Amino acid sequence: MSERHETEVATVAGVAVDTRHWIDGKRVTSLATFTDTSPIDDVPLAEIARGGAAEAALAVDAARAAFPAWAATSREERARILHAIADGVEKRIEELSAVETADNGALLRSHRRGVIPRVAHNFRFFADWLLTLGHDDFETRGHTNHVSWDPAGVCALITPWNAPLMLATWKVAPALAAGNTVVLKPAEWSPLTASLLADIAAEAGLPAGVLNVVQGYGEEVGAALVSDPRVARISFTGSVPTARHIAGAAAANLVPVSLELGGKSPLLVFADSDLELAVELAVGQYDNAGQVCLAGTRLLVESSVAEEFTQRFVAKAAALRQSDPRDETTDIGPTIHAEHVARVDGFVQRALASGARAVIGGGPNTELGGLYYRPTLLTDVASDAEIVTEEVFGPVLTLQTFDTEEEAVALANGTRFGLAATLVTGDQERARRVTGQLVAGTVWVNCFFVRDLRAPFGGSRQSGVGREGGTWSFDFYCDVKNTVTAPRGWQHHG
Ligand code: NAD
Repeated sequence: MSERHETEVATVAGVAVDTRHWIDGKRVTSLATFTDTSPIDDVPLAEIARGGAAEAALAVDAARAAFPAWAATSREERARILHAIADGVEKRIEELSAVETADNGALLRSHRRGVIPRVAHNFRFFADWLLTLGHDDFETRGHTNHVSWDPAGVCALITPWNAPLMLATWKVAPALAAGNTVVLKPAEWSPLTASLLADIAAEAGLPAGVLNVVQGYGEEVGAALVSDPRVARISFTGSVPTARHIAGAAAANLVPVSLELGGKSPLLVFADSDLELAVELAVGQYDNAGQVCLAGTRLLVESSVAEEFTQRFVAKAAALRQSDPRDETTDIGPTIHAEHVARVDGFVQRALASGARAVIGGGPNTELGGLYYRPTLLTDVASDAEIVTEEVFGPVLTLQTFDTEEEAVALANGTRFGLAATLVTGDQERARRVTGQLVAGTVWVNCFFVRDLRAPFGGSRQSGVGREGGTWSFDFYCDVKNTVTAPRGWQHHG
């Protein structure tokens, strides 16, 4: 490990990106590196510092040292700096979008118009929420109970590749707003925008050591970070198998952990629904090549409309254009990595071998090279089939039919996950009945992906532990304290 290797900057999509860690306000490199490739064309983008236990410990040292001053910084000043970070993100929307698309292959237009503006919004929202955070005092026989949200300490934040900067800042922003210091470990398949965030935060005046970014593999730097007994909170977004390791580390140190995990969410279409809307919502599940935790990948359609639904779905899906994600007219881009394509295809081929039928798709789009997977719809699948119960995390949907509301609810709830559910119906009474029975952290009725940062977000069952959003985020990232004060004059009576 050494400091200040000025050459360790890659140019990605015309943007200079530092490939080193960001620790205590300085760039720090590692002797080892790993290669980051672009899913657009499988071409190497950069050699990234590959941290390990030493870098994790150094980053926690820095975060610990910076904690007392940041925790003591007034809420107003913290909020001001978070807004300055948001300003920096907004100034660099084009650059951040271009780098994110090169790195993870999601659509450039989505990054520009939706995802990266939401990154700025994450900072603004939690800055503003911090200033309104409070609770009325309770009174107990003249004593006041005053609730406060005290910063917890060093937060270890571990994030995935499918929406790298959006998901990272959904944790970084509330953790910093709450007065904590942070060590962020982005995913090794999309490490670049986290490095740009470090630059932006420094320019915005965030003191050294308050935000640290370590790069490298999960099993190496990630595992070391979450095992460090000096870490006060662990927030993780990623897969269930990794979550088990992280929860184990958190258990060993008895550290609160927030887990936002995978899903196998249902999209229920009742015969009384607006079928055009249902088809539009269903085809929309191919967004980001299906690499969306919330995606409603199990289409559950009432038998009486299943044929018409399928015909309309196929017509609409056939019109989707799969191509380079930088092209304005592309609807579906590539899948993150060759290893992931093989995983996705493994699920599909095993399903086909056990009797499923591919209505559309069913394999990679070979005309575009190996990383583009064709949007796929599988029918003739059993409720307990692997393709129906396991998260594929690619552009692969299954379609099953039901005859009654009870059957629909049973199918919807029939996996070990519970992240989200989408319901399409024209009957408000039905909507009320069915949503009451669905096991999911988020339920959408006649809509999809509408998110409000004030609302709780998280998964039920194996889709997660805990909720974040609004005050729920501060509840997690803080030590919530109740201070009970005796009435005036207690000395005389006490
Ligand atoms: P992953 O679990 O493979 O990796 C996530 C992160 O964990 C990466 O940064 C990785 O380096 C790190 N990691 C791996 N092993 C580790 C260890 N032993 N200790 C510490 N860190 C470790 O997940 P992924 O493939 O990057 O992301 C896809 C998964 O994320 C899917 O299951 C998806 O559903 C889920 N996801 C969930 C949400 C949500 O909000 N619920 C959002 C996006 C993605």
